[in-house]
Amino acid sequence: MPYFISGVTADHQNLIARTPAQFKSMNDIDVKTRHRVMAIDPAGHTVTVRDLQTGHEYLEGYTRLLISTGAEAFVPPIEGTELEGVFTLRRLTDSLRIKRYLADARPRRAVIVGAGPIGMEMCESFATLGLEVTVMDLAGQVMPYMSPDMAERVQARIEEEGVSCLLEQSVTAIAGDGGAVRGVVTSNGEIKADLVLLAIGVRPVSGIAADAGLELGARGAIRVDEQMRTTGEDIFAAGDCATTTHTITGRQVWLPLGSTSRKQGRACADNMFGGETRFAGVQGTSVVKCFDLTVGRTGLGEAEATEAGFSPAVISIEAESLHQYYPGRGTMNLKLIADGGSGRLLGAEVVGQISSVAEKRLDVLAVAIDAGMTADHLQYLDLAYAPPYSTSVDIPVIAGNIMTGKIRGMECGCGPRGLD
Ligand SMILES: Cc1cc2nc3c(=O)[nH]c(=O)nc-3n(C[C@H](O)[C@H](O)[C@H](O)COP(=O)(O)OP(=O)(O)OC[C@H]3O[C@@H](n4cnc5c(N)ncnc54)[C@H](O)[C@@H]3O)c2cc1C
Repeated sequence: MPYFISGVTADHQNLIARTPAQFKSMNDIDVKTRHRVMAIDPAGHTVTVRDLQTGHEYLEGYTRLLISTGAEAFVPPIEGTELEGVFTLRRLTDSLRIKRYLADARPRRAVIVGAGPIGMEMCESFATLGLEVTVMDLAGQVMPYMSPDMAERVQARIEEEGVSCLLEQSVTAIAGDGGAVRGVVTSNGEIKADLVLLAIGVRPVSGIAADAGLELGARGAIRVDEQMRTTGEDIFAAGDCATTTHTITGRQVWLPLGSTSRKQGRACADNMFGGETRFAGVQGTSVVKCFDLTVGRTGLGEAEATEAGFSPAVISIEAESLHQYYPGRGTMNLKLIADGGSGRLLGAEVVGQISSVAEKRLDVLAVAIDAGMTADHLQYLDLAYAPPYSTSVDIPVIAGNIMTGKIRGMECGCGPRGLD
């Protein structure tokens, strides 16, 4: 949707994965849009459905039920969120509304409340369209789920692009004139805005599940087991409305992502039809493009690792993706976290120029972490090399080597050792 708003993707029809007609013709599945499930009766194995066009309500029976109600954008309980020019971005209709407003009202100044991934993507979208962009966050850094030093690199880059960052700002209201937005009010005063995007997170849509007596778990999402079964008989849940397990800590978490939703849905479908498929969980791998930067993370951050009972060793490196004699290389920063005792890899963060192909290195590390590898194993990993693609020893391998040196140094009291 951010790319549709900025015009990279020209036609919103391309954002529709499959229409109801295609579901019918390809899979013989009946899709009823504009129908809301109002209630679930687990004992009767029925749902109450309201046809939103006619208002008619009826019961629909099920043998097994999947709840995939997703998440919704959080709208803070402050004055002014209903004003014209104030948006959230969750559904395709939100992006169509924003696009129409951009064309009709021709806003000049956009304020984005929330410097998370959607906020960052929208900074780029609005800046590309020529708007003056301000991004605000309650936290003292952009991308609050990244380490502060990595987030600083992102902030520096977006500021170079003309985006103003206002951090440690609490929005107290949205001000308007004649029903349209005029500005964002914070404890430090009012910031002028012709368009406000609230991107301050999402909440699981789990109300109908809770009303039906199903147990909720982490962050109010529907509690499921590894087979995506809820606590209700014959009721499953998957996607942004459901919990999952963190594969490193073993804890129940809520980490709503499209990549996870699709895999949970697949496992869930198997089990609804009698399979025994297990969805083991996630380690929180995510990536976002912000102007020409790739920003991503996987696994645990340093504080999370400590909190989970590990003794984290952390290394940070800045590396070029290719040897200097080959054109097109990019610089990337990598932070690697391992357990100082066992050397087990726990987490990684990357911030790199698009040309550094940082996401490839992130994915290598995601696999290494998932496989339970140690830093020592990583430093001898057999990764492909040719000059157009990497240096002869690629960045994750360099990181494994430096981390191994650091851990050995921690053991023997000598300093870190790295590849030259
Ligand atoms: C701007 C943006 C960018 C994103 N970028 C990424 C990305 O780069 N990578 C990534 O992994 N994820 C990304 N995500 C997250 C991703 O979109 C979600 O994780 C994914 O859509 C979740 O799918 P879902 O089917 O669980 O829920 P949803 O897509 O939220 O679908 C739930 C559906 O259920 C319907 N519904 C809810 N309640 C009822 C009811 N009572 N009756 C009937 N229907 C109901 C809703 O109308 C909705 O259509 C992004 C999200 C946004 C908003």
